Amino acid sequence: MARRKLVAGNWKMNGDRAALAELDGIAAAAAVHTDVDVAVAVPATLIAGAAERVPALAIGAQDVHPADRGAYTGCLSAPMLIEAGARFAIVGHSERRADQCESDILVAAKAEALHRAGLQAIVCVGETLEQRDAGEAERVVTAQVEGSLPEDVSADWCAIAYEPIWAIGTGRTPTIDDVAAMHRAIRAKLRDLLGERADGFRLLYGGSVSPDNAAALLDAEDVDGALVGGASLTAAKFVPIIAAASR
Ligand code: PEP
Repeated sequence: MARRKLVAGNWKMNGDRAALAELDGIAAAAAVHTDVDVAVAVPATLIAGAAERVPALAIGAQDVHPADRGAYTGCLSAPMLIEAGARFAIVGHSERRADQCESDILVAAKAEALHRAGLQAIVCVGETLEQRDAGEAERVVTAQVEGSLPEDVSADWCAIAYEPIWAIGTGRTPTIDDVAAMHRAIRAKLRDLLGERADGFRLLYGGSVSPDNAAALLDAEDVDGALVGGASLTAAKFVPIIAAASR
């Protein structure tokens, strides 16, 4: 099944108003490579400025609260993100799973909240190095997929990012064969859960994607795009990754 590639950036806790200038070049590349969906998840403080500066580019958030409103000090709801100009959010990033002890159930509730509000979701899954070395990677990741997706999930509003934790920000990547094998395993799990609806889901690879390795990773079987951290911070590095996703 043909799926449009999605290349999404994750600025994490990086960037200030001056950094929004990088989005000009990224938006220009997105306008050229119209066969690729391009998105950037900026810090929440920059969502409104980013969405105003590059209205054609999908600007998103890096987290959301599962409730729409209420006594949740310091949190942001999906309706708030929409009002700021977000079109999507990342949920279940391994840094949040580890640092904020986020469970699969919470991640699923966050994805559901995004859908309720009309936002797109990128749900992240991935194994630790210890789990991979113990031969547990596929079991761990497919269990995360099963636990982190809400019951009514659909490919219209949700993509899944496979991000081996040991590859994030380290410059290390799995082999292309290992990436393809994990994406096959995720697709098989989705088929178990959702039947034919599984085929529409975009499966992104994330973890040290760079201009040098993007083409090989994006060409791998069942890889429908990339979630990019460090290399999404500048147009100089992110634009070649967008170009690599374009046919
Ligand atoms: C990420 O954290 O989502 C990520 C993929 O980071 P990096 O590209 O820097 O490894």
